[in-house]
Amino acid sequence: MNDPQNPALAAMMQRAVAERVYNFSPGPAALPAEVLQQAAEEMLSWHGSGVSVMEMSHRSREFESILAQAEADLRELLQVPKDYRILFLQGGAIGENAIVPLNLMRRLDAERPKADFVVTGTWSVKTEQEARRYGEVNIAASSVEQKFVRIPDVADWKLADDSAYLHLCTNETIVGVEFQEVPEVGQKHGRVVVADVSSHILSRPVDWSRLQVVYGGAQKNIGPAGVTIVIVREDLLGHAHPLCPSAFNWRLAAEHGSMYNTPPTYAIYIAGLVFQWLKRQGGVPAVEQRNIAKAKALYDFLDQSAFYRNEIDPSCRSRMNVPFFLADESRNEAFLAQARAAGLVQLKGHKSVGGMRASIYNAMPLEGVMALIDFMREFERSAA
Ligand code: PMP
Repeated sequence: MNDPQNPALAAMMQRAVAERVYNFSPGPAALPAEVLQQAAEEMLSWHGSGVSVMEMSHRSREFESILAQAEADLRELLQVPKDYRILFLQGGAIGENAIVPLNLMRRLDAERPKADFVVTGTWSVKTEQEARRYGEVNIAASSVEQKFVRIPDVADWKLADDSAYLHLCTNETIVGVEFQEVPEVGQKHGRVVVADVSSHILSRPVDWSRLQVVYGGAQKNIGPAGVTIVIVREDLLGHAHPLCPSAFNWRLAAEHGSMYNTPPTYAIYIAGLVFQWLKRQGGVPAVEQRNIAKAKALYDFLDQSAFYRNEIDPSCRSRMNVPFFLADESRNEAFLAQARAAGLVQLKGHKSVGGMRASIYNAMPLEGVMALIDFMREFERSAA
């Protein structure tokens, strides 16, 4: 974009880059500036094709190459085993709350479909409630009584013997709890575990011996809203309810290479650019180390302060979403306004929780977290 032929455009790009702030949005969330710049450069004509990716047929050779590359890169980044299929669908994670039961719940018993749910926050509540429309829901464990501050101990989970799958939300975006590992609960003997990984996909490796289906919306760690990633072990395809919409039937989607209907092409293209960016960062292990450092810096700061607090049990604090409260809540508005003025945006907590929340996904650099901590220290000092 620093095209000497077009100094006006180059100046516009420079100004836009200078205007960028540290964006702590929970989603749709910050994307790497490098990716946005590349998309801007390729916007009018992708790789000499003369058209934007938005204007291409999804059946064109060009788009097929974009999709194939994105899928191969995602497979490499997450070390997805050969017998798992990667699907790029629509419908979002809330769509999957219906699509998962429609595809899986009848797997063991079509007459009495049943699934287990471990409820660890707002999102898993939504998931089990939607599933009730399709079959029997067994709440194997729930931390609702503890206001979701810790994940129930696996020894206390009451799993049914005849459920088609167990559902977990492995990072609860709103309350800020994250499974540090998925426990062994009989996967070795055929139990199927499904996880909503919307808000921490690609922030850490996936243990595929413990997860047979993962899904998530893209708008936190991957790209624009509109594409939903589903990664499913092959033998789990083909159990869909007869009334499952064809566009959401995983077997059909897999058979058609995610092209049973028109996929969200531009969102897939941006996701592909993010996958390439992640590979340049050193892949998931390198990004995980950065995420650990970012989260540690912020939680350590919160823990030493009497002015701010995080209420989540340290054993299951999310590396991605860090909710916190000011001891004096009457200062909330001033905190947000001054943060905004300092170039730190979207820090307001979810309305169901209140307080603040810093979402620090892969695209948030350590410098952004340090800038937030510096601001918080200064705000505390000036309030004294
Ligand atoms: N699950 C989780 C963990 C989420 O964070 C979200 C969105 N914040 C959803 C589900 C819902 O996703 P969508 O709006 O894409 O349907």
